[in-house]
Amino acid sequence: MFESIIDFFRGLYGMGTQNNAHPGEMVDFMLNDPITNEVIKVAWPAPRTDLPYTVLATKPPTLSNGCYITLSKSTEYANSIIGKIRQPLNKWPGTNNLQVIPLAGKDLNAFYDRLHLKFFYAPDPVTKKMIYAASSTDVVSHEHGHGILDCLRPDFWNVQNIEIWSFHEAFGDINAIMFMMQFDEMINYALQQTGGDLRQSNIISRLAEELGLCIYHYKGGKDNPANIYLRDAVNNFSYVDPTTLPSDGDDDQLIAECHSFGRVWAGTWYLMFCGMYEQNKAAGQSPLDAAKAAKDLAYEYLIRSVVQAPNTPFFTDGVARGILAVDKMNGSPYQAVILKAFQDKNVLRAYAHVNATQTNFDIVKGLGGDQGIYVEMGKVKVATIPEEKSLKVSDVLPRMGMTAMHINGINMHDLEMTVAADKYYEFDEHGHVVHQIVPDMDDVIAHAQACLSFIHLKSDIGPDTDTLWEVQGNKIVRTLFV
Ligand SMILES: [Zn+2]
Repeated sequence: MFESIIDFFRGLYGMGTQNNAHPGEMVDFMLNDPITNEVIKVAWPAPRTDLPYTVLATKPPTLSNGCYITLSKSTEYANSIIGKIRQPLNKWPGTNNLQVIPLAGKDLNAFYDRLHLKFFYAPDPVTKKMIYAASSTDVVSHEHGHGILDCLRPDFWNVQNIEIWSFHEAFGDINAIMFMMQFDEMINYALQQTGGDLRQSNIISRLAEELGLCIYHYKGGKDNPANIYLRDAVNNFSYVDPTTLPSDGDDDQLIAECHSFGRVWAGTWYLMFCGMYEQNKAAGQSPLDAAKAAKDLAYEYLIRSVVQAPNTPFFTDGVARGILAVDKMNGSPYQAVILKAFQDKNVLRAYAHVNATQTNFDIVKGLGGDQGIYVEMGKVKVATIPEEKSLKVSDVLPRMGMTAMHINGINMHDLEMTVAADKYYEFDEHGHVVHQIVPDMDDVIAHAQACLSFIHLKSDIGPDTDTLWEVQGNKIVRTLFV
C-alpha cells in the first residue's frame, strides 16, 4: 500500500487470547478511514466468505472485527461479479487458509505475501497518535485486492513488467473504491460532497487518508491540511511509456514505480465509471441508482478483461482493449464514454502491424490443443495466447551499460527473470483479425530492464522478509505485494 518508513515504538492494541475473530453479533464498524470517521459508523454482522481466512484477534477486538468484516464483504462482492463469468473464487494461490494479522509489528506498512495479509502500526510524529494500518478499510481492502487479483491471475506474480506491477496496485485501489461503494450511505455522502459530479475528488476516490497524513508528517509537514490522502483516483496522470520514466521522484510526478504508475490505471477506470454514471443519469436514473449500476458494470468489465488480458509489455493498453471488446460483446452500450475515458488518459496504443488476412480459424488452429483463451460472443471474438518466456539478467545488463550486478550480496548475472510476452487477437464478425498484440522482444526487454533498475535502486531482493523479491533456484521470485 505504501513504502515502509519507520520501525519503532509500541502499540496500544494487544493480541487477544483467541486466534480467530468471528463476530457473530452486530459490531461497531468504521467505514473508510479513521480520520473520516465522522461519515459513517454502522453495526453490522459478518457474512459468510468462500475464500477461507483466519483473523488473529486483537484486544480490544475493534481491529480484528474490522478486518474480518471488510474481507468477508469484499470477497462476497467480488464473487458476486466473478460468479457471472467463471467459478467464484474459493482457493488462494499460496495457501488453503490466509492468515490475517492486524498487528504484525511496528512499521508503517501492510502487505500480501500469498500466505498472509499483514498490517503494521507506527506513531504519527506530529499528532503522536498511533496509526494502525488495519484500522483503515481502504488499506485492508487494497491489500485484499492484491489477493483477489492473484487468484484471478497467478501468472502476474513473478512477471518483470512495470505496467503489470502497477496494475496490481491499481486493482488494489479499485477494490478499495468498490468496497466503499457497496454502502449506499457512502455513495450518498460522495454525491452530496461533489454536488453530484463524481469527477471531483471525494471520499470514495481518496484512499488511506490517515496514512497519507502520517506520511506527510514523516516527510516534514507540521500542519494537518484538509483533504489529505495517500492516493486519489481523481488525478491528472495520463499514460506514458513507463520505460521512459525515472525510477525515483516526488509524489506529484509519475515515475516507474508501481504505486506511482498505478495511479494511471486507477484514474482511468474511475473516469470510465464516471462516464457510465453520467450516461445512466442522463437516461433518467437517480444519482444513487446511476452510480450503483455504473460501479457494478465498471467492475464486471474490468474482471472480464482481466481474466483474459494478455500478459504483455504494454499491459495498460491490453486491459483497456479487453474492456472495449467486452462492451462490444454487450452490444456497445457504453463504447463512447469508455473510449472518451481511455483517450483522456492516453491508454490506447496505436498498433500498425495487423495482418487482416489472418482469421480466427488460422490462429486458433495454430494453438495446438486447448492452449490459450478463446472467447466468442455475438459478433466479437478474441483470443489470448500465453507465451511463457524468461530472460537472463545478463541479457538485460548491457542495455544498462553494466557487465555485472550484485544486490545484497547476490550475484544477479545468471538469474532468470519471467517476462511478459503473451499474444492477443481480436476478430470481426467474419473472423478476420482487426486488432492484435504481438510483443516485440525489444519492448519485452525494455520493460524487464525498468524492473531490474528499480530492484537495483531499492536493493529489493534478498532473503529478508522486507524485500519484494528473492532468489529460488536460479529464478527471481516475488515475495510480496505492498
Ligand atoms: Zn499494494
